[in-house]
Amino acid sequence: MHKNQVRLDALSLSRIVQEIAGCEVCSESASEPFAWLVEKAMGRVDTAQFVSSARVVCPVCSTPLTKATLVQSQDDVEENTKYFEPCWEETTIVLIDEPMLSAAEACFTGCEHCSDDAEITLDYVLDHVTGCDPTVTEYVLCRPAICRSCHRGVTEKTFVVVR
Ligand SMILES: [Zn+2]
Ligand SMILES: [Zn+2]
Repeated sequence: MHKNQVRLDALSLSRIVQEIAGCEVCSESASEPFAWLVEKAMGRVDTAQFVSSARVVCPVCSTPLTKATLVQSQDDVEENTKYFEPCWEETTIVLIDEPMLSAAEACFTGCEHCSDDAEITLDYVLDHVTGCDPTVTEYVLCRPAICRSCHRGVTEKTFVVVR
């Protein structure tokens, strides 16, 4: 055993874990054993000590990582995104069907055509009704919503008055 091996403490370990973008369970591009990542960061590490270290889990799916678990490091992700369009900003299209639309219609009492108090778009109401993440969701309405005050059509970008 080498005397000058680096001690792998919990702090260093947590820094290394932050570099992990996924493991073999949650990422198909996981290709490096976790031990490699540790070696890259720390130099040679006593693997026996590694096993006895604090429990390390994948930051993405919480699967416990062993030194042989294949992981994907952030470096790889950055390289990959140069070749593939980034998937971070992928938009989810959600179809608003009749029941959802009725639920959304029930949430607003007026629109920009009939009220000066219309301050938020129907989009916002739909986020609330569907529980979708507004940053990645676009809505497609099966028909325009109807304002109950003026009976005009309301699209997802129309400003409405919420009760
Ligand atoms: Zn994982
Ligand atoms: Zn209206």
